[in-house]
Amino acid sequence: MNFANRKDDLRYGQARDFSREQLTRTNSGWVVFDVLMCKETARQAVELMEKHFGKLDIKAVLYSHSHIDHYGGIEGVIDKNSVADKNLPLNEQINSGKVAIIAPEGFLQHAASENIYVGVAMGRRAQYQYGTPLAGNDTGSMSIGIGLGQAQGSISLVAPTYDVKTNETINIDGLEIQFQLTPNTEAPAEMNAYFPKYHALWLAENCTGTMHNLYTLRGAEVRDAAA
Ligand SMILES: [Zn+2]
Repeated sequence: MNFANRKDDLRYGQARDFSREQLTRTNSGWVVFDVLMCKETARQAVELMEKHFGKLDIKAVLYSHSHIDHYGGIEGVIDKNSVADKNLPLNEQINSGKVAIIAPEGFLQHAASENIYVGVAMGRRAQYQYGTPLAGNDTGSMSIGIGLGQAQGSISLVAPTYDVKTNETINIDGLEIQFQLTPNTEAPAEMNAYFPKYHALWLAENCTGTMHNLYTLRGAEVRDAAA
């Protein structure tokens, strides 16, 4: 999507990315779960963390699902030259000192089909649905139900180096992560994750109060409400 005409409003966009990014400690570093929609907002999140915790040694990035506001900020979090070799087994990717990118099976196919093939038309309609062309200022901006607004900036995509194909448990630098695949729910390729060490369950957008993707005015794929 081209947000070039919105650069002048970037400072408001940066302040209102509606997606979530979670950073979880491993033995000697961090895993990042979801990376926001734009490089600029994701970079701000990393800088905020580094202000409090020092330089982040990122071991792996996990994409919860194939929607652009969960992977578009990847190049604000890591340098694409630091991505692990996808031909290696996962433990060797992590031991190589590079960053493993982990996603549910089918992620890349669905990221392309929903956001690239129909992305231009859907992006245009989303402007009407979300009111993104309306300028924000210090006293007001448009809320869009699921959050305070869509981020405006540059979008990136780095392909996964490891596909989660079963409800497997992995270990990244001492941090155990249990995956639960949830295909054809809020997105065609999506997964939950449980971190036993912290008793923390990550549900991404399988758990929101808005049912924002069952049927959308912008024409995203219709989801199975029962699922
Ligand atoms: Zn989503």
